[in-house]
Amino acid sequence: MLDQALTRLEEAARHLQLDGDVLEKLKYPRETTKTRLMIRMDDGSRKSFMAWRCRYDDTRGPTKGGIRFHPEATMDEVETLAFWMTFKCAVMNLPYGGGKGAVQVDPHTLSKAELERLSRAYMQAFSHIIGPDRDIPAPDVYTNSMIMGWMADEYASIVGRVSPAVITGKPIALGGSLGRDDATARGGFYLLRHLETELGLSRGATVAIQGFGNAGTHMARLLAGAGYRIVAVSDSRGGIHAPSGLDVERLIAAKRNGSLKTLAGAGIRTIEGEAITAVECDVLVPAALENLIHEGNAAAVRARVIVELANGPITPEADTILERKGVAVLPDILANAGGVTVSYFEWVQNRQGLYWTAEEIHSRLRAVMENEGRSVWDLARQRRIGVRTAAYVHALSRLAEAIEAHGTQQFFTS
Ligand code: GLU
Repeated sequence: MLDQALTRLEEAARHLQLDGDVLEKLKYPRETTKTRLMIRMDDGSRKSFMAWRCRYDDTRGPTKGGIRFHPEATMDEVETLAFWMTFKCAVMNLPYGGGKGAVQVDPHTLSKAELERLSRAYMQAFSHIIGPDRDIPAPDVYTNSMIMGWMADEYASIVGRVSPAVITGKPIALGGSLGRDDATARGGFYLLRHLETELGLSRGATVAIQGFGNAGTHMARLLAGAGYRIVAVSDSRGGIHAPSGLDVERLIAAKRNGSLKTLAGAGIRTIEGEAITAVECDVLVPAALENLIHEGNAAAVRARVIVELANGPITPEADTILERKGVAVLPDILANAGGVTVSYFEWVQNRQGLYWTAEEIHSRLRAVMENEGRSVWDLARQRRIGVRTAAYVHALSRLAEAIEAHGTQQFFTS
């Protein structure tokens, strides 16, 4: 996966006059730590889980990125996600490098007490590389504010002081920020609204959402509230499609009660697997995992616009096919950067000890999404390149400036 992701870096580098040291510096993760976490289960038995934390690059600041709990997590995936975080933070001009962590576990099979022990074990294992000025975790796939709260608490006991800025996405009661829960979707939503005219979208435009977790549900609510019509939604257990539109609150209730598919009936048909990618719609929103759209299904995509709320949902081969078809892709490192942007706001609030209102958070988020989104969009037009490549060029020029400012003697011992 990392090799695939690096093709995007190489492509962007072709559009900039870069010192060779810069590219060399960004081609490898700076450090990846791997540990086996061992916990006691409720029934007294023992279980162990592989866990990683990657600090990919810290030239622009402490490394930043979520921790994922997923049964199929691998070290290669963690390093790739940390590479994407490096570019995401640079696109948004956040004073951070990129990092990521994971535990190879299906959290749905654990009791709440087991989940807490696993979360605390993670912090115990990695506390030596984590810190408010070093590496700052956050939620990701199948982790949430409750888990961040346990980890913040564990870190405080290890270092012997309260240190809320060590982790973001915490519960509000422990120094979390208002507006962090829906920030990923809200950022993508602000970006899409800002570019509506350029993308040729009008009121009543139809939307299909793949993935109905935190990002997907909030995106459905925001888009429906703005007059978009949600025509298809799916999650790991399948989905539904209704050309006349779906009611978002009913979708959320169905998901809570077990499955989206329970809504199937007159005018609502069920869909399986990747079929949602071929649904007739204006906007397709991948909001789950990597590699959803690949060489084998890209040609069948019918959407005109794709908003990547997931990280890495389109492979490089699929990108080429979509570009040829004229599909506009708002890429992950820009479109889903609302999450880490509000994480940054949370970290700032923790350090200054002064907290902002939800309105302040929203308006600051909107400003960043619109400014950086506009710069990327204009760059794409000026240079006649795809929006993804433009986002990488935009980020890479910031990264290169920071690497050069440090002095390359810093990185390559002669
Ligand atoms: N996991 C999110 C992402 O992939 C958020 C990271 C953060 O807030 O640090 O961008």
